[in-house]
Amino acid sequence: MIAGIETGGTKFFCAVAESADPTTFIDRVRIPTTAPQETLGAVREFLEKHFSEVAPEAIGVASFGPIDTNPASPTYGYITATPKPGWSHTDLRALVPLLGFDSPIAFISDVSGSLLGERTSGAAVGMNDIAYATVGTGIGVGVLVGGSLVTGHGTPELGHILVRRHPKDTFEGICPFHGDCLEGLACGPAIKARWGHSAQGEEVEIIGYYVAQLLLTIILAVAPARIVIGGGVMKTPGLMDSAKRQLSELIAGYLGGDHPATRSADTYITAPQLGDFSGLTGSLVLANSLLR
Ligand code: ZN
Repeated sequence: MIAGIETGGTKFFCAVAESADPTTFIDRVRIPTTAPQETLGAVREFLEKHFSEVAPEAIGVASFGPIDTNPASPTYGYITATPKPGWSHTDLRALVPLLGFDSPIAFISDVSGSLLGERTSGAAVGMNDIAYATVGTGIGVGVLVGGSLVTGHGTPELGHILVRRHPKDTFEGICPFHGDCLEGLACGPAIKARWGHSAQGEEVEIIGYYVAQLLLTIILAVAPARIVIGGGVMKTPGLMDSAKRQLSELIAGYLGGDHPATRSADTYITAPQLGDFSGLTGSLVLANSLLR
């Protein structure tokens, strides 16, 4: 059996599966993210329940970040300098020896985990050139090129690209590093800080303009075969349609009239199919990849 863990700013998911069928959860649990000791204690309890006698064959972790995903680094598996109180420099790799076994463990970012999940049994099955974007509490993008996750020096950080401002938007932005970068203007907390509620009416157009610029950047940079885009903000009624329409306007014919990004009904840009479980599924797929 293998184990998968998805860590998030508000909740953790853990699951176990057979290595022969990594996308079917045999058991799963949702744990609220509180203090590291408490949350990781609950993860440990779940794992102990399933692995009291036999060690897991492998463990995959898809984590909120920033997470050190470089296996050669001394802090591999650490959540590094997160703004999440209490979680900076948390060593997730320590879970394994704590449990008394020596199973292989691998770490990727939460968006890369979601990408692997959607690629295995969701909205981009079997595709080798895809991007998975989330627009929610933060904005992140995982990128798969030629079947490999892009993880050269660190991971892509497209949530922090600089964007052209919507002419009706004077909000200063909330990114502690850049102010009005994409995340500073369009993540869930930025929307809440600007309007006090989720986007509605004309506000949807403003956020749609920023989402369109994210999509455009992804398309221009890596020419994916599909973009899966999810996250809490993307559930805003009308936002996906607004973003697709404005994307088409921003492309302005440059990619040729038949590019699927310019056809609003096309599934080239699509919502995730695994609901809340893209990342958890991806963590199991990651665990399984260690066995090959
Ligand atoms: Zn930023």
